[in-house]
Amino acid sequence: GRRGLAYARQKAPAAPAQAVGRRWRCGAGRRRGTFRRRVSAAAARAPVIACVALGANLGDAAAVVASAIDALNRLPDTRLEARSHLYRSAPVDAQGPDFINAVAAVSTRLTAPDLLLALQQLEQRAGRERPYRNAPRTLDLDLLLYGDARIDSPSLTVPHPRMMERAFVLIPLAEIAPDLVPAAALAAVAGQRIERLS
Ligand code: ATP
Ligand code: CA
Ligand code: CA
Repeated sequence: GRRGLAYARQKAPAAPAQAVGRRWRCGAGRRRGTFRRRVSAAAARAPVIACVALGANLGDAAAVVASAIDALNRLPDTRLEARSHLYRSAPVDAQGPDFINAVAAVSTRLTAPDLLLALQQLEQRAGRERPYRNAPRTLDLDLLLYGDARIDSPSLTVPHPRMMERAFVLIPLAEIAPDLVPAAALAAVAGQRIERLS
């Protein structure tokens, strides 16, 4: 669709949606020799496709989520590749008004920890506070996937450990990367209320 992976890709020719899955199976990719040694560490790494879940349920949540997607495209060494529509979902294990959700795919040369830090800075800029677990939030940015990496550190777990339980993650993710969301996973969350906004 218009918002799929090909939509955001400006310089390369349009690619089919399954390019997401293909590219992150490619992992770190090849490096070049002496020329690359003189440029930054980020430039020396091959870009990785990362998927980010966005959610907000305080203030003008739709505007916050939309501008956070734009902000992803402005992160250093990072380019927006695809964005889902916005969705409205009922809180799951959380309080407050309905959430606005979306999922974006970026191509990034940031490491996963650096990408997480950048996401947390965007949350802070949106006024995120954490008064208690699952509190309402102005903006929540979760790193769902970072290429095909599996990460288990105290501050970062990838793939995001709860993504498969959440319709508000799986449905927008399926929109931009259908190969990554098995039909059985969608069926398992079919009872959760979520609607696509036009
Ligand atoms: P949930 O993770 O269930 O969606 P949450 O988003 O409300 O809950 P937060 O308070 O935003 O939780 O984050 C708590 C901590 O989760 C963060 O400090 C961060 O270090 C850690 N974390 C671990 N893995 C991830 C990930 N993949 N993406 C974002 N944060 C992560
Ligand atoms: Ca979250
Ligand atoms: Ca979070």
